[in-house]
Amino acid sequence: MSSWFASDLHLDPATPEIAARFLRFLAGPVHGARSLYLLGDLFEAWVGDDDPEPAHREVIAALAALAAGGTLVYVMRGNRDFLIGERFCRESGALLLDDPAIVTIAGTRALLSHGDGLCVDDGAYQRLRALVRDEGVRRGFARLPLASRHRLASQARAGSREHLTTASGYITDVSQTAVEALMDSAGVNLMIHGHTHRPGVHHFRSDGADRTRIVLGDWHATSKVLQWDDAGWRLEACPG
Ligand code: MN
Repeated sequence: MSSWFASDLHLDPATPEIAARFLRFLAGPVHGARSLYLLGDLFEAWVGDDDPEPAHREVIAALAALAAGGTLVYVMRGNRDFLIGERFCRESGALLLDDPAIVTIAGTRALLSHGDGLCVDDGAYQRLRALVRDEGVRRGFARLPLASRHRLASQARAGSREHLTTASGYITDVSQTAVEALMDSAGVNLMIHGHTHRPGVHHFRSDGADRTRIVLGDWHATSKVLQWDDAGWRLEACPG
């Protein structure tokens, strides 16, 4: 049986074609799979589990149908949807994963992360990340009316776009030092993450071991997903 990994769908009511592709992916290749791991930024913005947005409700219903069919659905928060909470998990049937998380697939231990925490060369971003993950800040945000939360989220996205156009490429990618340190501490030789929108497979040697870092793709571009079964893993364009 297969396990599937995807990230950075950035589902948004403004881009229904991506949601349609994701729903076909769930109903097709992933249907009947052992597990599905969504490693962050499933949504372009998530202002709270109480958002009644119909496009998001459709995705929740599709995940719930998949989970009801026996597939284990795991969700990790990304930097765009870090406010995903218990209600989302209850309604979608998804299990919330910590970042990082360690799983064993087909006998191999792998470390899963969204990936933004590894972009340590981007000091401005890491300061923002610490701020929005503060429990008090989150509670304050959750108390705001829905319209205010949407307005603040869209301002944050505009700021992020501006930052990405001015920051150097290496700054917004993961730091190899941070990658190796995390793999050392976790005792794994395989890592899977998203976030950078730079899909690929990186083989390297560190701490006396041959190691691999797999980067998933974003769904505006390559939509590279990972399929893993007893025959091994493959990073491929989303089938269907
Ligand atoms: Mn991200």
